[in-house]
Amino acid sequence: MQYYLNHFLSGWQSLAQQITHPNWGNFFWLLVAVSAVVLLLEVILPWRKKQRLARPQLGQDIFYMFFNMFFFPLMGYATLSHFCATQLQTWGFVEDLRGLVPLQLLPAWLQLVLLFVARDFIQWNVHVLLHRVPFFWKLHEVHHSSETMSFPVHLRYHWAENILYAIPEYFLLLVLGRSVNDLFVIYAASLFIGHLNHANLRLPWGFLKYIFNTSELHLWHHAKQIPRRYGVNYALSLSIWDYLFRTVYAPPQPPAAIGLADEPRFPKSFLRQLIWPFGSDSRSR
Ligand SMILES: [Zn+2]
Ligand SMILES: [Zn+2]
Repeated sequence: MQYYLNHFLSGWQSLAQQITHPNWGNFFWLLVAVSAVVLLLEVILPWRKKQRLARPQLGQDIFYMFFNMFFFPLMGYATLSHFCATQLQTWGFVEDLRGLVPLQLLPAWLQLVLLFVARDFIQWNVHVLLHRVPFFWKLHEVHHSSETMSFPVHLRYHWAENILYAIPEYFLLLVLGRSVNDLFVIYAASLFIGHLNHANLRLPWGFLKYIFNTSELHLWHHAKQIPRRYGVNYALSLSIWDYLFRTVYAPPQPPAAIGLADEPRFPKSFLRQLIWPFGSDSRSR
């Protein structure tokens, strides 16, 4: 109990420290800075010119952004995951996995690139499962419930997705002999790319669209009438996986509408959305 209490309190103290000491090395101000840059781009170069900045769900999307990044971890999730990771390390087979791939033999920049690519590929697979496993889709409906696309939709997702993405990431770091602290630059890059591909922006990516996810591709991922049964364009940061596995869909025109096909049954309030996947009135497609 004391362990939980100490970890819980130090988490809140750390957030307070981040807020009161702005710098490029902390997550709170990183989120604020990246959001401000992308917001400015949306204002100067809007893709869908008729889309208003003050759109429905904006307040809820912003709340989700801070809830998923800061409040949910501090409500006990960070403490619990730290505890689970500590327990797992006492298991022999888990310890045998540590540092199995000797990444440290490579130059630092290459280690970072490989970690970014490997993490993104794992996340792409988790995202595919979120669309294909009926219960996971119920969780993921929160992300797809937005009817207007703008950068705050990036972090609009059900709290349980934090857990589904964190488990394989834990094993990836273990096998590569790295810690979460090594991921800050990768988190920052993923945050920026994710904000950009949810934003009301169309940037001239050129041939880079075959490597990095774009707003055109991701808008089709959120289409109300999805072109294939389980969806298309699962990319988070890198679009290469969709090209490689033929899940890409890139027609020249944008979709007619975005959101859930059967949207009226989806709850509007944040609290009801949290428990929605566990209720009897949610049904799989
Ligand atoms: Zn999705
Ligand atoms: Zn999305």
